[in-house]
Order: sequence, then C-alpha cells, then structure tokens
Amino acid sequence: MAIAHLSSMVDLFFPRACALCVELLDEHNRGCLCSHCLDLLIPLDDPCWKCGAPRGEGLKLGNEENRKKPARSCRWCKNRRWQFQRVFSFAIYSGSVISAVRKMKEPAYEGLTRQLGDRIGDWLTGQLLPPSEQPILFAPEHYDAVIPIPQHWFRKLTHRYNQADVLASRVGAAIDQPVRSKWLRRSRWTQKQGMKTVVEREFNMLGAFRAGPAKAIQGKRLLLVDDVMTSGATLHQAASSLRSAGAIHVDAVVFARGINASRVTPRTPPENRHGPSGSSPDFGRKIH
Ligand SMILES: [Zn+2]
Ligand SMILES: [Zn+2]
Repeated sequence: MAIAHLSSMVDLFFPRACALCVELLDEHNRGCLCSHCLDLLIPLDDPCWKCGAPRGEGLKLGNEENRKKPARSCRWCKNRRWQFQRVFSFAIYSGSVISAVRKMKEPAYEGLTRQLGDRIGDWLTGQLLPPSEQPILFAPEHYDAVIPIPQHWFRKLTHRYNQADVLASRVGAAIDQPVRSKWLRRSRWTQKQGMKTVVEREFNMLGAFRAGPAKAIQGKRLLLVDDVMTSGATLHQAASSLRSAGAIHVDAVVFARGINASRVTPRTPPENRHGPSGSSPDFGRKIH
C-alpha cells in the first residue's frame, strides 16, 4: 500500500509517458504502453508454419490446387532448408511494431522489453486471444529450455544489455521452462545486418555461433528467442549450431517478423555464394 502510494506521488511530479506515442499514462497503468498502443500490438493472422511470415495472397502458391487448399508454408520456405523447425512470430514488422523494436534495443527501455516479453508469453500460452482466434498451436511442454540469441561478448561488455535475454526470461517464465543463455555464444564479431541483402546477411552469419556443452544439449528440444527475424539467417545459423551440438528440435519465437528480405528469393545456392557482386538485381537491392 505504501509503495503504491509512493509511486502515485512520483507519478504526480514525474508523469510517465507511453514509450511509443508519449501520451501520458494513467496512474493505474504500471506498464510502459498506453492501452491504445498495446491494442495495436496484435498477433499476426495466418502465419507461415515454417518461418512465421504472413501468408498473404502474394506469398501463397499460385497454382489452382494450392488456391483451393493453401499450403501451410509460404513460397519463401519452399526454397529453403531451415535448421529450425518453426518460427512463431508475434507481429509483422511495420507501424508501431518498428518503433517498439527500435526502442527495445536501448537499455533505457528494458521495462518495455519486459512488457512485450510478457505479451509474447500470454500469446504463446493462449491467454491473449480466445482459443478459436489463436492462429498458432504452441505446446510449452514440448520444450526443455529457452535460449536467447546472444550478443558478442564485446558488445555485451560495452552495452550491458541484450533485449533477447530480457524477452527470453519473460517467455521462459510464461511457459515455465528454464532459460539457458550459456548454451549458445557468438563465436565471432558480425557486422550489423540492417542494410545488407539476403545473401550478404547469410554470409555475414555463417559460423557466427558456437553451442555447448554438447553433454547438456544432447537430445534437447529448444526454443530460441529474438526480437526480430527478417531474412532468417541469424536463427538459421543459431539453430544449426544447436543441432550440431545434439539438439533434436529447435523452434524460435520472435516479437516481429520483417518480410522485405524474405520476399527476395535467393537464386544462388548458399554453397556457391561469393557475395553480392555479379548477382541478379534482387541481390543488389538493399534490405531495410
Ligand atoms: Zn501509446
Ligand atoms: Zn515461410
């Protein structure tokens, strides 16, 4: 009671604003978002069962048979051999979700990251939507551990904050599974993915992770957690490392799914890639 009274007094002198629209928050709202912004963060409808992208008309297969009975996966996944089995993506990377992702990267917005991690947890455990409207089937008991996508040790040293760690801790609590952040590490420094093409992203992430100890990971079913998935290169390489260390099943959950990079279909087999020079016009296009 005393703490609630104190926080009301603090709010009176230092009113808190919504992290996205800067509207002043109601004194009873202990989160970081106003109800309007929270209502805009709604789960993606009809996602691909592999990569979590929205399976809008443009992504469905075009033949007559598939129009009658749409595939569960999108066209992008037809050309891919992902190392993960499935990605659960909460929202599409657009509008206020973009602002939320940008803010989550800053240590000052750790509270927002925690709140969004809780929202993902509510969604995964079926508490956000009635069962009839839940677009995914998720079974918490299917997993043995939750693993955040790690940062390089140098970035962690200087930044002292990894939004994936925060999201993973909230998701782990929601699904009642332990978080094992030491099972996956960055084995080398990688450049920022932001302005790279699909092929550049994949090349950039090759061998970027190391998983261990194999004794602990052997036979485990794991759930990776990250803030955003765009081309899928990061999750693919992380899942690859975990599977090499003995994991028998790797899924992932992300807050936001960017689709620009997914729509650029790779035409050069990954084994033959030598970077973007001489590639088709698609590869030369920068992904934002
Ligand atoms: Zn707001
Ligand atoms: Zn897909």
